[in-house]
Amino acid sequence: MNEKQFHSIHITRHKCIGCVHCMAACPTKAIRVKDGKARIIDDLCIDCGECLRYCPYDAVHSHTTSFAALDAFAYKVAIPSNVIYGQFGSATLPSEILSALRRIGFDEVYDLSSICELNNAATEEYLNEHPRPRPFITPTCPVVVRLIQRRYPALCGQILPIEPPREIAAKILRTILPKALNIAPEKIGIIHITPCSAKMVSINSPATLQKSFLDGAVSIRDIYPQVLNALRKSHEDELMRHLFPETQFSGIGMGWSLSGGETRGLKKHRAVAVSGVRDTMRVLDQVEAGLLQDVDLLECTVCPDGCVGGPLEVENRFLAKSRILQLVAAAGERSVVDPKDVSRLYHKNFLSFDHPVMPVESHPLDANPAQAIRKAKRREELFGELPRKDCGACGAPDCRTLADDIVRGQAGLADCPFVEKEKR
Ligand code: SF4
Ligand code: SF4
Repeated sequence: MNEKQFHSIHITRHKCIGCVHCMAACPTKAIRVKDGKARIIDDLCIDCGECLRYCPYDAVHSHTTSFAALDAFAYKVAIPSNVIYGQFGSATLPSEILSALRRIGFDEVYDLSSICELNNAATEEYLNEHPRPRPFITPTCPVVVRLIQRRYPALCGQILPIEPPREIAAKILRTILPKALNIAPEKIGIIHITPCSAKMVSINSPATLQKSFLDGAVSIRDIYPQVLNALRKSHEDELMRHLFPETQFSGIGMGWSLSGGETRGLKKHRAVAVSGVRDTMRVLDQVEAGLLQDVDLLECTVCPDGCVGGPLEVENRFLAKSRILQLVAAAGERSVVDPKDVSRLYHKNFLSFDHPVMPVESHPLDANPAQAIRKAKRREELFGELPRKDCGACGAPDCRTLADDIVRGQAGLADCPFVEKEKR
């Protein structure tokens, strides 16, 4: 039995006009449009956010942590995604952005690039010690993990069992801050600042941890105006340029928000990077078929161009990407992590999953196997009776899905306007 999983993407019913753009965009066929309103089937949704990108009527929304909710914590710590460095133009330094986050109310702000570099070093150790299976698949994008659990269950064992940088950073801070500050752990809120709502999925329904080390994820879009305001009002920026120079950032870690950035730091292993949900599914189909075994690590992110293409960023993704590439070039190959420290943490299992990723069962056509076979046969017959135009007018994304819905008792042949017309 599948336990109820958290979803970050929802439809605001009163805004929906039933135009079916979202249904056509959904890669897992998780949307139906009935009576002029779209509905998401939770068991099929992987929270990729494609419907959010394509809805022209602002009827799809994502659930992230509100900035006001952070008042519940006495001490607020931000761990922003590196994507934030690409949001404020090429004249704004990362150090100024971190400083602006402090000014809008965070007590501490930690740059993630050094932890990204740490993750690269740990990945290298893991790949050295585990020559099989190939390829391992990175777990950084929570949508990819959810996609594998539901569509490619046989690949669950190929997910690289090292926590992504946001969780490692939060775990380190959870270990050191309560003692250093002498504050009760529950009063310290550790918050990710994110370009995508899927991070809420990995916080509220973690696939690899008993409990996430993060307390929430605030969207870049939500805090953008305050950060921009704080940047404009800043009197300290010149001072900050000297106090917190760019040299503190990891050159290898800075590029993690771009497709290929996660694996760029690997020196001894062959890696392939793929981005975008449909290309990711195409490549996972190949891995499932036993291909790509000469690749050590497959980096998959469902947003186009990597996290920099997340639906909750503000800057046009091409400009954001260009700014981050500038920062990567400026930082060069500079390393800020001692591999010996990483090795110690790695061998203590500090960086590992609590448990492996488990498949999430899809609903069979019927609990009774004989009945399921009969229904599968009936589904094929129904598909033969449908016009195969995949027009979406019935409220299902294509004729094959309508046939499936009919045998599951969730739709009728009369939903197809072509069948009805023929009857008349
Ligand atoms: S894209 Fe989907 S959610 Fe948005 S209005 Fe059209 S049917 Fe409704
Ligand atoms: S979030 Fe993705 S999988 Fe879920 S309904 Fe929207 S498009 Fe489909």
